Amino acid sequence: MNPEFLRGLCYIAASILFVFGLKMLSSPTTARKGNIISSIGMLIAILTALTAMTEIKWIWIISGACIGSAVGVLAAQLVKMTSMPQMVSLFNGFGGLASLLVGWSEFHGKWATNDAINLFTIVAILLTILTGGVTFSGSLVAYGKLSGTITGKPVLYKGRNIINAVIMITVVVLGILFCIQKLDQLDTAGLRNIYILLTSIIILTLIIGVLATIGIGGADMPVIICLLNSYSGLAACAAGFVINNNVMIVAGSLVGASGIILTNIMCKSMNRSLANVLFSGFGSATSTGSGAYQGEVKSLSVEDAYLILEAAHNVVFVPGYGMAAAQAQHVVRELGELLAANGAEVKYCIHPVAGRMPGHMNVLLAEANVPYELLVEPQDVNPTMEIVDVAVVIGANDVVNPAAREDKSSPLWGMPIIDVDHARTCIVLKRSMNPGFAGVNNPLFFKENTRMLFGDAKASIASLVSEFRS
Ligand code: NDP
Repeated sequence: MNPEFLRGLCYIAASILFVFGLKMLSSPTTARKGNIISSIGMLIAILTALTAMTEIKWIWIISGACIGSAVGVLAAQLVKMTSMPQMVSLFNGFGGLASLLVGWSEFHGKWATNDAINLFTIVAILLTILTGGVTFSGSLVAYGKLSGTITGKPVLYKGRNIINAVIMITVVVLGILFCIQKLDQLDTAGLRNIYILLTSIIILTLIIGVLATIGIGGADMPVIICLLNSYSGLAACAAGFVINNNVMIVAGSLVGASGIILTNIMCKSMNRSLANVLFSGFGSATSTGSGAYQGEVKSLSVEDAYLILEAAHNVVFVPGYGMAAAQAQHVVRELGELLAANGAEVKYCIHPVAGRMPGHMNVLLAEANVPYELLVEPQDVNPTMEIVDVAVVIGANDVVNPAAREDKSSPLWGMPIIDVDHARTCIVLKRSMNPGFAGVNNPLFFKENTRMLFGDAKASIASLVSEFRS
């Protein structure tokens, strides 16, 4: 059989595996299988691509594969769950860098040999470099913000929109100049100039990535991670056009499209438009909402919390970043089982932006073997929250902040939240009165039906488990 035809078939098989894998990722029950299926698709795609290469230095391929696999395995084993968002950010960034390098090396090959490039390919090279560069530098800044090496507050300065616009217009002009050059008709000086032109475009693109992300507050990072993920897909898709590789075009489009869909879901969860996320500098204001959140904070002991839970007929757990930080998911599952054994109906309500990455809480609860059917969406629980006996908030803060509903001056105003304050009793587990990620005060802590159980979430829940067992 014609090898080219065979390769086409393998690429189609890999693409089908990507589509099915992606579909399976949308449900926690099938996500693991989906991951494996997508990985098999990727392996087929890589092996097929290697068979197409005529001049191949295996030492580079094998060294790259070994180093990459070792880094991947180590990262998967060593990186803590709480650092996953940073890692996803880095992965996005390296995806962008890889695409940028593909575009650059393709151009470099033609430039060095003074070869002609058609307009379609040169535009694809430019798009690969633009999207890849923005993804790379933007993701590094997102990494810095999430890991705390760069301030989580938006870095704003006077005239930033004008500066950004000027840089973007410059890149567009330079990009047009780059695309209209004919490499095969240039003399040595002309070739050198177009090389300088491309280097300038790359530098400006990297600057755009930094400036676009540095002005965004840490609280908006979930949206930005999804957006950068989408960009990394688009960069790979453009790189696929550059090297004429169909499976890269398909895989890149899938990542690009799913990233945009996730971005849209995250924006809706925060009740914000994408433009507002990108340009509003959310989180820069010193305002943390109205100062009127005052009153009596009623703390309770583990023993009192036990008595309330022991008498409850239905309990909703609302996990947040604090559960991840405390690694409390296993004891939470244990407590849930004990409550169920005691006759209570137990559910786990997860907000889409709880934690520090999309799906953060789902991953943790799945790791602790919490049955999927007990997980519920906020829109399903909120309408019946009044008949919930106890809502147990485990290290969540912004996603249960009623100021989003009640206080127009709050930066969180309009964000859909989980209405734990409507439950008959709300027990909040956290260590102090500190605000959450968005730095916004929370009136929940002062509500009549709220009881604060101060302390590390894992220690508090473990004590509750002991109370139930004794
Ligand atoms: P928050 O960041 O609002 O609050 C977490 C709370 O956990 C804190 O108030 C903290 O209070 C408490 N906490 C921390 N460690 C512990 C511990 N060991 N034991 C008990 N409590 C602890 O979390 P949410 O999940 O409610 O909200 C997520 C926020 O993060 C949102 O603002 C979202 O926009 C943002 N974000 C989300 C991302 C995502 O993709 N999901 C990514 C990036 C940001 P205390 O210090 O008093 O203990």
